[in-house]
Amino acid sequence: MFNLVIFGAPGSGKGTQSELLIEEYGLFHISTGEVLRDLIARKTELGKIADSYISKGNLIPDELMINILADVLESNPATANGVIFDGFPRTINQAKALKEMLASRNTKVHAVVGLEVDENELIDRLIKRGQESGRSDDNLETIKQRLEVYHTQTSPLKEYYTAEGKYHAIEGSGSISGIFEKIKSSLSKVRN
Ligand code: AMP
Repeated sequence: MFNLVIFGAPGSGKGTQSELLIEEYGLFHISTGEVLRDLIARKTELGKIADSYISKGNLIPDELMINILADVLESNPATANGVIFDGFPRTINQAKALKEMLASRNTKVHAVVGLEVDENELIDRLIKRGQESGRSDDNLETIKQRLEVYHTQTSPLKEYYTAEGKYHAIEGSGSISGIFEKIKSSLSKVRN
């Protein structure tokens, strides 16, 4: 049983590294961004609400996001074997809620992998991804807002998890496989 949070700014490579980590450790992947995009694609009421925040580059309000996450955890029994949380938590309130949710299942966040990438590289990557993926929030105006939101609301989690002794800073530039090797080596200290 191993619960991992993959953390970093938009464009830091969370999704890409999550895919490799799932294969390596057999964890259940929860990407809150994907969960929300799926709600939008299915044109649900929740999806409409989520879209009004995502398209502007803002965060979905904590209470709503925490309820959505709790629902994903409860409706997927495989999460009991370990989860990789990708894009959650994004605020201190969410981190506290996650701690409670996991504690009620007699578990916890074991480690947080923080992918650290220079701001200019993040913008270049996100613009490129927007051209390829067609994601509505990968345009320059929204990208700038998402980075601003990251700095003000999400980056304080670094200190939060550092204080808990769980934060593993990983230099997130370079080759995908090189970054993955650094993550594995950092996590081997936690898993052994
Ligand atoms: P992502 O795919 O992780 O970059 O998420 C895309 C967008 O979904 C974000 O810019 C937010 O608008 C929304 N979102 C994803 N995860 C969260 C979260 N934990 N809290 C609030 N909003 C979120």
